[in-house]
Amino acid sequence: MKRAAKWVHGTYSGYQKCRLSPDGACAACRRAAADHMAEWRRNRPRHFAYEDAKQKARTRALRRLAKLHPVDMRNLYDEELATVADPFVHIPGRGGAA
Ligand SMILES: [Zn+2]
Repeated sequence: MKRAAKWVHGTYSGYQKCRLSPDGACAACRRAAADHMAEWRRNRPRHFAYEDAKQKARTRALRRLAKLHPVDMRNLYDEELATVADPFVHIPGRGGAA
């Protein structure tokens, strides 16, 4: 008889299961995932230096593109921004500032 594999909160493998719950991963699992990623980064400094350099190159390219096409950039940004939920908008009945 096959029984369901057990998983444990507060471990990286547990995080992979816990994060699928409707409320997302619990604090212990998020901590385990963060520790796992920190260790992963520590063990691969050259990989992450390269990834950081690529990200910075991408940012420089986007800045240059925005300078070449400022109106298009503004319009695209406004379009993308419209898809983002504003966490500071007051929802009546949910508390927070009036
Ligand atoms: Zn958990």
